[in-house]
Amino acid sequence: MGLLVNELRETSASGKTRSYEWRVTQLNALSNLIDDHEQEIVDALRFDLSKPPLETVAYEIALLKNSCKASSLKELKHWMAPEKVRTSLATFPSSAEIVSEPLGVVLVISAWNYPFLLSLVPVIGAIAAGNAVVLKPSEIAPASSSLLAKLLGKYMDNSSIRVVEGAVDETSALLQQKWDKIFYTGNGRVGRIVMAAAVKHLTPVVLELGGKSPVVVDSNINLEVAARRIIAGKWGCNSGQACVSPDYIITTKDYAPKLVDALKSELDKFYGKNPLESKDLSSIVNSNHFARLTKLMDDDKVSGKIVCGGEKDEKKLRIAPTVLLDVPRDSLIMTDEIFVPLLPIITVDKVEESFDVINSGPKPLAAYLFTNKKALKEKFVTTISAGGLVINDTTLHLAVHTLPFGGIGDSGVGADHGKFLF
Ligand code: NAD
Repeated sequence: MGLLVNELRETSASGKTRSYEWRVTQLNALSNLIDDHEQEIVDALRFDLSKPPLETVAYEIALLKNSCKASSLKELKHWMAPEKVRTSLATFPSSAEIVSEPLGVVLVISAWNYPFLLSLVPVIGAIAAGNAVVLKPSEIAPASSSLLAKLLGKYMDNSSIRVVEGAVDETSALLQQKWDKIFYTGNGRVGRIVMAAAVKHLTPVVLELGGKSPVVVDSNINLEVAARRIIAGKWGCNSGQACVSPDYIITTKDYAPKLVDALKSELDKFYGKNPLESKDLSSIVNSNHFARLTKLMDDDKVSGKIVCGGEKDEKKLRIAPTVLLDVPRDSLIMTDEIFVPLLPIITVDKVEESFDVINSGPKPLAAYLFTNKKALKEKFVTTISAGGLVINDTTLHLAVHTLPFGGIGDSGVGADHGKFLF
């Protein structure tokens, strides 16, 4: 790995990656790569996750194109321009400006659940900022990893942009090297390993982690619309295997039965009477994650709590969208990020109590609220600390490139997207 990093460091030191022209050429090459190979990307995700093509197009390809063209290529000149700042009387008649400079050589370690988006968006950021970059895709999505290696090898300037495939051993070897920035996406346990490795060289890190993203449901809402938006954010995002998927719902005891009925009826419309056969649902990524799911469902504390779904097919790694009502807060399903298609509901007497429940746990990556009450919206925004807050929808903030995307506390460090990534 040392040789590889040295080679990229030499390219970076030569100044090649610094120019506006190099950055634009590489971003255009990346954009062409995506345009030319859409079907292969869809096929790779079908292989790795049985991901429905529509989901791949909407959440990987379209968001990538947006990040590359609408955001980075369109804004790059503006981002690169020095920013004049005011000086004070004490330094009169001086002028001052903030000049952006490339960091050098960046390492991107990405996760399996959105393998193209999570790999290429940080690569776009590294290129836009004039850096050399090494991408380490996730071994858990092997077809996507090898397609990324093949296509980046073919389309990009390999003296400064490289892919290293592999698992823990290869990532550990990469982490022993000195980098100028590490951008990691994945779980918090490995996030801590990455941060510890970065400390040795005082390397700055972005850690895009996960967490238990709650959905608070008030009773004065258009329930049908809310149910659809919760379903789209949970099962419509990789069957719940998305960092911003609703992890659990909090609602009042009185309202919970109505919410369950609405979820059942809308789930029926989304996935039909036999959701295990639906082509619109991704599978669980592998048998380890399926075993984890089974453990969550077999916990004595949630026995009898399933109010919808629960059917599974271990051979095909599939499970129907499953809702559990009134799970105890100390059950396994409520103690760690779920990251599978199970959606527990916990109940409170008054909706305002939901905020205490959320604040009693680690800070989530996202938090959602469905309400039409102005005061409750305001309380939500001032009381809840999360990477992102969305009112009356789920997951949508991820698609807004003018917002920083990232976590806070246990859900991450630093920000992604657009200018924030630059
Ligand atoms: P993963 O298993 O693909 O691991 C992520 C990366 O870490 C991989 O490239 C892997 O090779 C590497 N890795 C694994 N173990 C390692 C070790 N011991 N040492 C060094 N490197 C190691 O992905 P995952 O962690 O299962 O991803 C799911 C998690 O990621 C969830 O918590 C999810 O919420 C979070 N996530 C966050 C975002 C975000 O943008 N915030 C996006 C997607 C996923």
